[in-house]
Amino acid sequence: MKKKLAVVALGGNALLRGDQIGTIDEQEQNTTETLENLVFLINEGYNLIITHGNGPQVGNILMRNDAGEQLYSISQMPLDICVADSQGGIGYMIERMLRNVLNRHNIDKNVICIVTQVLVNKDDPAFGDPQKRVGKIYSRDEADELHKRKGWLFREEIKTGTGYRRVVPSPVPSGIVNGSIIRELAERGNIVIAAGGGGIPVYIDEKNDVRPAEAVIDKDLASSLLATETGADEFYILTDVPYIYINYNKPNQEIKEFLDYADTLRYLQEGHFARGSMAPKIEACLNFIRNGGKMSVITEAFKLADTSYGSKITMHYEDERR
Ligand code: ADP
Ligand code: MG
Repeated sequence: MKKKLAVVALGGNALLRGDQIGTIDEQEQNTTETLENLVFLINEGYNLIITHGNGPQVGNILMRNDAGEQLYSISQMPLDICVADSQGGIGYMIERMLRNVLNRHNIDKNVICIVTQVLVNKDDPAFGDPQKRVGKIYSRDEADELHKRKGWLFREEIKTGTGYRRVVPSPVPSGIVNGSIIRELAERGNIVIAAGGGGIPVYIDEKNDVRPAEAVIDKDLASSLLATETGADEFYILTDVPYIYINYNKPNQEIKEFLDYADTLRYLQEGHFARGSMAPKIEACLNFIRNGGKMSVITEAFKLADTSYGSKITMHYEDERR
């Protein structure tokens, strides 16, 4: 019988927690703890594709870029290269940690990281309305100078009043480059790490050339698209909450464990999920279900092996239960 395929998206916390500074020791330890939980899915007979975020890591790469230019006149690399660097670095780390976890559990599988480009449309409205904050905080003068010299756009850090940050577009992903190869590798039992940080955004120009977009893609939306394109059965988003809630952080907060498509869409429209954190995860889960996926799950990594393992979204309530 054909094995089930799961795409598992690792959130920021899976690699680096908010209270940590980001040393490689910290990242390796967090990653190992997270990956230990995936052994459960492997033992349940799933084939796996792993995706991951890159927020803190690509932020550090951008700051190194900035410092390198100021101290040594090293020319700054564009965002696509920075995202590719982060995919390589983080992907390699996950790959090595996972090999060690698998060895300890006597599981014999290949683990492969694929530096992944993700297609976006140049006419995506996001290009006219850059919203995603990246890189370091600059003073007003520095921001003005960078705007003149490089054309970068900035927005004030209003909440903290600490200065200005570069904003870049976050277009919707429309295709995964090499998606069919990722699918083939996974279906043969290899664990594939792909679309890290939402993928490297690229578009096809009038001459049919592939060109980089100075943008970033939401990792949950890209992961969901990868899940659809690889024909995955289930899509897991591992983050730092065990469940999704309605009336989140209010006295009438309520855990939602089983959700169907229509109710989840209604909760999203009613504003129960915060923009920029839970809302894109919910959209990603709904996209996967609408495009034929059987079940989307949002939970914490260590809950995977529980009988009650987080919030499960299916098209209809009576679908798929573990
Ligand atoms: P990651 O970095 O893992 O991708 P985010 O930090 O972007 O995840 O999003 C997860 C966060 O979403 C949770 O820590 C939680 O505070 C927040 N959140 C907002 N609305 C909700 C909700 N309705 N239910 C659960 N979590 C929510
Ligand atoms: Mg996030």
